[in-house]
Amino acid sequence: MNAAFVGLGIMGGPMAANLVRAGYVVTGYDLSPEGVRRLIDVGGKGAASVPEAVAGADVVITMLPDSPQVEEVAFGADGLLEHGRPGMFHVDMSTIKPETSLRVAQAATIKGIRPLDAPVSGGERGAIDGTLSIMVGGDPDDYEAVRPLLAVLGTTLRHVGPSGAGQTVKAANQLVVGGIYGLVAEAIILLEASGVDPESGLDVLAGGLAGSRILELRRHSMIKREFAPGFRIDLHHKDMGIAIAAARRAGVALPLTGVVAELMAAAKAQGHGSLDHSALLKVIERLNT
Ligand code: NAD
Repeated sequence: MNAAFVGLGIMGGPMAANLVRAGYVVTGYDLSPEGVRRLIDVGGKGAASVPEAVAGADVVITMLPDSPQVEEVAFGADGLLEHGRPGMFHVDMSTIKPETSLRVAQAATIKGIRPLDAPVSGGERGAIDGTLSIMVGGDPDDYEAVRPLLAVLGTTLRHVGPSGAGQTVKAANQLVVGGIYGLVAEAIILLEASGVDPESGLDVLAGGLAGSRILELRRHSMIKREFAPGFRIDLHHKDMGIAIAAARRAGVALPLTGVVAELMAAAKAQGHGSLDHSALLKVIERLNT
């Protein structure tokens, strides 16, 4: 399969590299030449535009920050719907609004392009290791057709429903992840304020019922106040907005999600948007000093 990859950032870069390693011919495009250069360094091909990337592609993967970028890359005059050939798959792995996914999917289907929304969880580490969780919305046959490619990128793959359903599952994922970060931050503040060594304390939590992937991967860096991204506060703030809007559309109240969304908004407002989302700790810290 010839694959085009648009968006070679923190996640897209290592994901595209894994496809190259698995034997796919990958042609990548990113607004930033840096990302394209990194793909060429690992054996991929570089493109200078979306049309150049999708020429001859059997599948195009997009891994972009947010809904407006996906809309631009899909719908623009230089976009993939205009330049992709009928029969091509479009797998959008960005985290965006479910309704945007649905709109892109409907427009793609009219052009004969086969759309899937396939957002991921597992962070930069999961992207590098090829161990992402991937939640897929769209036609089940299209999912089966691209499953071998997705299996290069992740280990937990699920078809979860029609177009947009992958994004709804991702919204649920993000409210859980945000909530756990907030509570780990509160645990650190409590331990430190009580004169208990937070390293020892969180080691015990990580081995018990409170254990989680977040405690496993991030407890040491959080205690040391190391917040290099990872997953940026700006992006998680976007995702909490998606979760709140999805709850409103579904007609349900999610009170804890509301609190986490406000803490994330505070982190952004305090100027921490480009730090890792574990920097939620800075907000809890500021509430207490
Ligand atoms: P990023 O900002 O590192 O990468 C996005 C890339 O898209 C950048 O390199 C940017 O130059 C490029 N880009 C933006 N607009 C473009 C355009 N019009 N044409 C071509 N390239 C364009 O972001 P990321 O952390 O890789 O996240 C990508 C998506 O994956 C987001 O939706 C994010 O919410 C989601 N996600 C991220 C993580 C994580 O841990 N970083 C985890 C799961 C999901």
